[in-house]
Amino acid sequence: MSSTKKQIKVCPKCGDKKYNLFNHEGKLRAKLCSCFICYECDGEGRTFHQDDKGMAFLADCSFCFSFRKRLRLLNDSGIPGKFSNATLEIYQPIGLQNKKALSRAKDFLDDFRISPKQSCRGLLFMGGPGLGKTHLVVSILKQLILEEEVHGKFVDFFQLLSDIRHGYSHDQSEMSLIEPYLNSSVLVIDELAKGRNNEWEQTILDQFISSRYNAADKITLFTTNYSDRCSTSNDKNGRITSLQKQSLEEKVGDRILSRLAQMCDFIKMEGEDYRTKIKPPPRIIHQKN
Ligand SMILES: [Zn+2]
Ligand SMILES: [Zn+2]
Repeated sequence: MSSTKKQIKVCPKCGDKKYNLFNHEGKLRAKLCSCFICYECDGEGRTFHQDDKGMAFLADCSFCFSFRKRLRLLNDSGIPGKFSNATLEIYQPIGLQNKKALSRAKDFLDDFRISPKQSCRGLLFMGGPGLGKTHLVVSILKQLILEEEVHGKFVDFFQLLSDIRHGYSHDQSEMSLIEPYLNSSVLVIDELAKGRNNEWEQTILDQFISSRYNAADKITLFTTNYSDRCSTSNDKNGRITSLQKQSLEEKVGDRILSRLAQMCDFIKMEGEDYRTKIKPPPRIIHQKN
């Protein structure tokens, strides 16, 4: 074998993905990597096309345009920066239920790739905190945006409520804050039912769910710390170790729960909060002789 062939080097910055993701002031940001060269237009950004009469004209290079558009969509998605590295590949499920949840997330993406119009049914990941529910939905959303050029948004519902309250005192209409989310093709609603759920919060939630429910071509992915019914966990001596005082139905009401059930599949996750399992490194104590 001749070794004269040039070795193809993989870009150390992006691993040849041609973009880099990073956390900028708490938001996920995507940037073209310096190794990006478009072979369609040699970096000019425009290529010659022909109209119906055979006349040549210059127009945007479709490859560059689409690539940059995907990065722009990701920058506008509102995904928190701490998920810049989140992918389904790095998610490590503990326990059968969480393995099933991962496999459901992968199936969802496969179905979408085969037939985006057919897979309008969303997913609702439910279970205690620290099981990686948000990791799973964000990984799905990132992949849909970067690979399928989907117009997707992430909303922390609790934060949105606070933004709406703030908007009232600055003459900003509630609709101007809500609309970008309602119009997105794929929407992630994180931490559904977090908050006090007073009448006003319930009205906003109802507006969200009704709008997404009525839009036949839109997909909504949810996470919630609440289960569809009250649950308890016991230790080996039968003592109750954790108790979920309220169910999702009690938090959102039976009307919204029934709509959720029609819009998406409920996926239960279980186990211990991985964040409480991360132990600090052992301290090295230097003993004096
Ligand atoms: Zn690169
Ligand atoms: Zn190009």
